[in-house]
Amino acid sequence: MGRPKKITPIVEKAPAKVPGGFDVLPEQQQFFACFTDKLAALAHTFGYYKVDTPLLEDSRLFRFWQETFKHKLIETGEDKSRIAFKPTNLFGLARAYLDHRYFEKERTVKWFSLSPVAYETSDGLILQHFEWGFQIFGETSPIADVQLINLLLKLFGETGLHTLSLEVNNIGCLECRPLFVDVLRNFFKDKKYDLCENCLEHLEINPLNILACDNLSCNAAAAEAPVFVDYLCEPCRRHFIAVLEGLDELGLVYNLNQKVVGFPWSRKTVFQIRFRNAENVELVLGQGGHADDLIVSLGGPPTQALGFWGNVETAAAALESAQVKFTHKTKVEVFLVPLGDLAAKKSLRLFTELWSQNIVTSEFIGPGSIKTQLKLAESSKVSIALIIGQKEARDGTVILRDVPSGMQELFTVERIVEEVKKRLGR
Ligand SMILES: [Zn+2]
Ligand SMILES: [Zn+2]
Repeated sequence: MGRPKKITPIVEKAPAKVPGGFDVLPEQQQFFACFTDKLAALAHTFGYYKVDTPLLEDSRLFRFWQETFKHKLIETGEDKSRIAFKPTNLFGLARAYLDHRYFEKERTVKWFSLSPVAYETSDGLILQHFEWGFQIFGETSPIADVQLINLLLKLFGETGLHTLSLEVNNIGCLECRPLFVDVLRNFFKDKKYDLCENCLEHLEINPLNILACDNLSCNAAAAEAPVFVDYLCEPCRRHFIAVLEGLDELGLVYNLNQKVVGFPWSRKTVFQIRFRNAENVELVLGQGGHADDLIVSLGGPPTQALGFWGNVETAAAALESAQVKFTHKTKVEVFLVPLGDLAAKKSLRLFTELWSQNIVTSEFIGPGSIKTQLKLAESSKVSIALIIGQKEARDGTVILRDVPSGMQELFTVERIVEEVKKRLGR
């Protein structure tokens, strides 16, 4: 036998995580899982079906998105066949809706999605999120807005977030928006010197964004700004009133908020759900609204679209800061304590047998004294520990310890599963 070969490191030090990315470690998984489990359960109750779309799509699909932000797509490929990492799920769903001709098959589809998205900010930071959302394509009445908001408030409420606020606005349609945008542009032209650099750019492109700016001076300039609700066309006005009446009907409290302006593809009702933590820090859990011109802009038939999108990281951060407590879904019933190599080998079969009888079994893996292992069993509130020492491994026996009382009894391997079942009342 020669000397073991020395491995030369490929890199001197493992590279750090790319800024803008995220790890979800076991201690955070409970918040992630709590949220995504509840999301899937409620989606099912409210009749939404899950749709997954690829991470990479034809870049042209995101043209709407590209016009929107100063952010950039993460792209690759030749000029005419460029593919991009999806920056948000909405467009992939719209493409799937068209590709699979759902507009011919169903009057309305209700979908939900849960998938990573990524894009690059103007200063070169690659942002990655785990995005979730609900999306409806087809006919949407104002009641659909109300039902979606109701579902979302239920979702957050049932996961344990209570200090929520619903911010609602209406930003009109292609008919009434240009008029309001003109009025707004004229209004802000007189206040040009109060606006930040970003807002000065928005003044020409989309002055609605000035309303959303958090800069103090821009905020002050926007205080007296005209209100969109006064400029809505009749159908938009009727739609908005019906949405607000529906919210009143369900007793859902909302704030009318001009600062919520949605995305450039947003039409009519736009809304945000926010969470305020104990330190009074506000987190926007997501944003929703209509994208009624999206399907047409992709070459499809006139189709209404209503959805809400947020990031799981933000929801999980809110749950963490709200100190929501979770009980583990599967409570461990039996704890295996093998001591030594032979015992470890024997416990492997026992472990499998217990699981095959639907007994939730956990095992301490790695070195550790029997004392440490039993402490672990105690802290995880397990009622039964099965100890296999070297002697027991040789004799084909197992020590059954009643963890709360500390009483121990010896059983043969053949009898042990039956005994455990008896004690668990199975
Ligand atoms: Zn309108
Ligand atoms: Zn500004």
